[in-house]
Amino acid sequence: MRKQIIVGNWKMFKTNKIGVRFIENIEAKIKGNPNLIVGIAAPSIMLSDLTKVAKNIKIAAQNCYFKEEGAYTGEISIPMLKEIGIEYVVIGHSERRDIFKEDDELINNKVKALLEANLVPILCCGESLEIYENGKTMEHVKNQLTKNLNGISANHVKKVVIAYEPIWAIGTGKVATPQIAQDVIKAIRDHLASMYDQNIANEVLIQYGGSVKPENIKEILSQPDIDGALVGGASLIEDSYLGLIE
Ligand code: PEP
Repeated sequence: MRKQIIVGNWKMFKTNKIGVRFIENIEAKIKGNPNLIVGIAAPSIMLSDLTKVAKNIKIAAQNCYFKEEGAYTGEISIPMLKEIGIEYVVIGHSERRDIFKEDDELINNKVKALLEANLVPILCCGESLEIYENGKTMEHVKNQLTKNLNGISANHVKKVVIAYEPIWAIGTGKVATPQIAQDVIKAIRDHLASMYDQNIANEVLIQYGGSVKPENIKEILSQPDIDGALVGGASLIEDSYLGLIE
């Protein structure tokens, strides 16, 4: 049985003090559940303080660079994240791909470096509205995953969390229907089976992301291939975050 994983993505919202208070308040209200991983991907400046107050919530980074160290102004390394106890790192979010022009090769290097360091990449993939309307979603997402997982062993790929996030559903209030999300995520699992094998594919956790809220999460997570959610807007408000994990 696969676990479920619900991760909030705070993007570039909140400040350190507000973030710490949020995590303290949520921690006071939740209990650990061995079958559910809950997390918050926070801006890097908050990570150190948030890990000090988090118990059941996994504090995740929103990005990292793949080199150990060097002249890479503005970047954050994997050893820096490991030292403060970060286990999960979001990689290839559509905002990183579109606004900051991260390409598939860079994303592949980041996924590889994280796995080699024993950290878990939350690898995002997903199509634009144009690709969706042209009926090319499956082709696009499979192509992204082929490139982003290039050279990654079967043993390592089992640790990757994949987040399928149709770009047209991120922050727009438009949710892919649970059936659309299930169909694409099933196609992702089939693709992993063709790249590796069915047993490996069955182990990989695959989330859906795109306007998930407390009101729609239950139906989305009831789909057989969907193992969780990556949630932006609805993870910013305490009651709403609690509603998602409840
Ligand atoms: C996201 O940031 O990954 C996301 C899915 O955002 P939202 O839930 O706001 O659509």
